[in-house]
Amino acid sequence: MTENKIPFNKPSIAGKEIEYIIEAVRGGHASGDGPFTRKCQHLLEKSLGIPKALLTTSCTHALEMSALLLDIRPGDEVIVPSFTFVTTVNAFILRGAHPVFIDIRPDTLNMDETLLEDLISPKTKAVVPVHYAGVGCEMQQICEIAKRHGVHVVEDNAHGLFGSKNGKWLGTFGTMATLSFHETKNFICGEGGALLINDPKFIERAEIVREKGTDRSRFFRGQVDKYTWVDLGSSYLLSDLLAAYLYAQLEEREKILGIRKRIFDYYDKNLRDWAEAADVRLPIVPDSCGQSYHMFYMLLPSMEKRQAMIEHLKNKSIWSVFHYLPLHISPMGRGFGYGEGDIPVTEDISERLLRLPFYNELTPEMQSEICGEIIKASSSW
Ligand SMILES: *Cc1c(COP(=O)(O)O)cnc(C)c1O
Repeated sequence: MTENKIPFNKPSIAGKEIEYIIEAVRGGHASGDGPFTRKCQHLLEKSLGIPKALLTTSCTHALEMSALLLDIRPGDEVIVPSFTFVTTVNAFILRGAHPVFIDIRPDTLNMDETLLEDLISPKTKAVVPVHYAGVGCEMQQICEIAKRHGVHVVEDNAHGLFGSKNGKWLGTFGTMATLSFHETKNFICGEGGALLINDPKFIERAEIVREKGTDRSRFFRGQVDKYTWVDLGSSYLLSDLLAAYLYAQLEEREKILGIRKRIFDYYDKNLRDWAEAADVRLPIVPDSCGQSYHMFYMLLPSMEKRQAMIEHLKNKSIWSVFHYLPLHISPMGRGFGYGEGDIPVTEDISERLLRLPFYNELTPEMQSEICGEIIKASSSW
């Protein structure tokens, strides 16, 4: 038995990554906003049909930028799912906001839009839907409710680049949206992200916030003859060496999405009948969603069965993982007054969800073995 035979994730090369990185190193522009950054931003703007995309050091930092741009201040409330990665909420807590956790729908595991309106208060500044697994949230309802109350929508689209809802790209619904190019995501450069700006009135200030609070971007365009400190800000530019890596990935987006679709479909087809018989729930993708094929998960009947499944697979050197530990019952979440039972669907789902290995080099033979072991593991239930 080889160690780490089938890892959970593995970054892979899709096209001209190495070539472009060498070009970027030789080209002599290693810091941010070089030629590859511009190419990536242009590609994102054109393919999504949005006014501005800005590469950032991470999705976390793009979320932090959104909090700065929306002027989130102490006492403001931000509505976020408890079932998400910690930075979806931390970015706003850093500005002094109070998190208001919203439960998820049992089908897509996305923000339950039917609970949204009751959670909005006069202090609410933003609502942050996460397109879980790259399957779109009910954006029409979410945006309508938010608009009615004068609340901004920031889409955390770390999973869903090139996914769509009702024919519209994910990341193009809210005031802003964020992307991640961390090595565990669909399109990668190691660490990286982007802020997508759909409301043009935020573009100028976004460039300033991203450039340490200076008007350096305007200076480079020749609009001012010196650059200076004009606002709050930080250092959110991605190195152009990483943008070179990313550009090669984005160029191959059709190929990458095609591979990931094949992987998803294989699991779905080969586990469907078993899942039905074993009381296991596989992903539900509504017809209105063009998914980005970010992950494949299963909902097992109980936490004990999930643990047994993880153990069985691990003994065969197949690595499966679970997430998210609900944020509202984490030590930080409890500090905001939350406790067990407050967000029930999230608490139930997070105990039973298991993610299967999912990366571009996963072959049908490997998937066949994974599916075989999953079925074997359940025979002792
Ligand atoms: C990965 C992820 C992030 C953070 O992305 P980074 O680029 O690592 O900062 C944020 N939100 C969600 C939903 C994620 O999955």
